[in-house]
Amino acid sequence: MTKPPSREWRETDTGIHSVWRKVFNADWSSSEVDGPCPVCSAPTLHRWYWLESEGGAIVGGRTYLGRGRLWEWCSTCCTFEYYPDGYVPDWWTAPYSVDADRLQYDPEPIENSRSSLKD
Ligand SMILES: [Zn+2]
Repeated sequence: MTKPPSREWRETDTGIHSVWRKVFNADWSSSEVDGPCPVCSAPTLHRWYWLESEGGAIVGGRTYLGRGRLWEWCSTCCTFEYYPDGYVPDWWTAPYSVDADRLQYDPEPIENSRSSLKD
């Protein structure tokens, strides 16, 4: 197994953040997000939830599996957003697994799992 070169991850800046939220909120139904990346226009947006504590919750009329973390990123330009403390929606099923010990601030280990699945 060869380790892929690490990517240069960048968080969204304030100018991009609102457009980024709009695109991700418009397709809140699976790990693959429809629409072009607000930064590079590539249709390669992804999200991944990590369920940390099960125990359903209803917040704002929506049902959640429990508390967890969320990463959103573009696998082309490596722009990302990270939400360390949120809720995991009830529609979520992980399309690939990531070793919990490897999870970090940027989505590098998640993108590695995702891209190794597609290769
Ligand atoms: Zn992009």
